[in-house]
Amino acid sequence: MTTPEPAFDAAHPVDDRYTPPACGELDEITGVLADGRLSGGAPVLPIYEKALAGWFGVQRAVAVNSGTSALHATLIALGVRPGDEVLVPATAPLPTAMPILTCGATPVIVDTAAGSLTLDPTDVAAKLTARTKAAITLPLWGYPADDTTTAGLLTAAGIPIIEDACQAHGTKVRGRYAGTRHRAGCFSTHDRKLLATGEGGFVLTDDEELADRIDFYTHLGHLNGHVHGVNHKLAGPLAAIGLRRLRGLEAQLRTRRAHAARLLAALPDDSPLTELGYGPQDTPNYYNLVLIASDSAEPLAAGFTAAGLPPDSTRYAYRPLYHRPLFAAYATACPNAEALCAATLQLPVHPDMSPAALQWVADRIGVLAAAHAERQRP
Ligand SMILES: *Cc1c(COP(=O)(O)O)cnc(C)c1O
Repeated sequence: MTTPEPAFDAAHPVDDRYTPPACGELDEITGVLADGRLSGGAPVLPIYEKALAGWFGVQRAVAVNSGTSALHATLIALGVRPGDEVLVPATAPLPTAMPILTCGATPVIVDTAAGSLTLDPTDVAAKLTARTKAAITLPLWGYPADDTTTAGLLTAAGIPIIEDACQAHGTKVRGRYAGTRHRAGCFSTHDRKLLATGEGGFVLTDDEELADRIDFYTHLGHLNGHVHGVNHKLAGPLAAIGLRRLRGLEAQLRTRRAHAARLLAALPDDSPLTELGYGPQDTPNYYNLVLIASDSAEPLAAGFTAAGLPPDSTRYAYRPLYHRPLFAAYATACPNAEALCAATLQLPVHPDMSPAALQWVADRIGVLAAAHAERQRP
């Protein structure tokens, strides 16, 4: 029996979107419809929040209508106001940083440590001021960002840390889930994320008082007329989808990890391409498999794109934050982030990738890595 070769090329790139299989969401939605309350006040909301808190092992989860709302509400609840400064890594994509502008605060862009997604402690120390109100860390592509050193520095300075874990459901850092390691973790459940409800998000925290402030802010101050709030509530049917899909998250993580291992095994010995680094107690969730080239990945990125495996720099024009006009005014020298963004290649390893597609990608990686090694030879 022969399986047809999947044919990917520049015009038909491998799909990096994943559609989870039906898992009884309709039954859950039917229950919400039968009850008739479809808003963020639906009885399924507290059930969903409890399930999230239980899955991640935290005291509180507050469901909201997007990851952007989760970040915005957390910044507000931590007291970020116009004129305040918020530290954000240069590797952050636009949605990580835009909520800082929404608060009227100033993003202070910080370089990452060499070859890593963590905030560089030296640059953090240089950029802390009396106006610094919070710091955002970012396990991008679901890769563990072990910011223990920086966290010590920030905690000593009294600066709360928000993890933007919007891509990092199930990622572990030193044995703990990303998004549960600091003051608050913000997640998205947009269609592209590992837990998907269409639009949606949630905040995790062990700080009950902070959770209450986020809850009041995102629910119009519970209309008590004492505190200001916005309407960032998640609708009942979306919470119902999340509640069911959460049950499949563990299996999805296992499949993604198996797929990543399969592609990594295809790298030739002393390959000029290696996996983006992480510690022995860390586990990526494989939102993407991220490879890093031993020198500039530019010819590699071109080769991957021609082969139908475009990296994020091609697919989404991904580059350091201050390259975007909206953030150009906040540009500072971030050589490590520049090098990291230029050297990384992101590959899909989601469960929709067929064995044949994975084999095809593995073969291409082998060929492209060997060609890159050949180019590097003196
Ligand atoms: C998706 C995402 C967001 C925003 O989440 P939305 O639900 O789309 O608002 C923020 N930060 C990161 C890193 C993301 O990937």
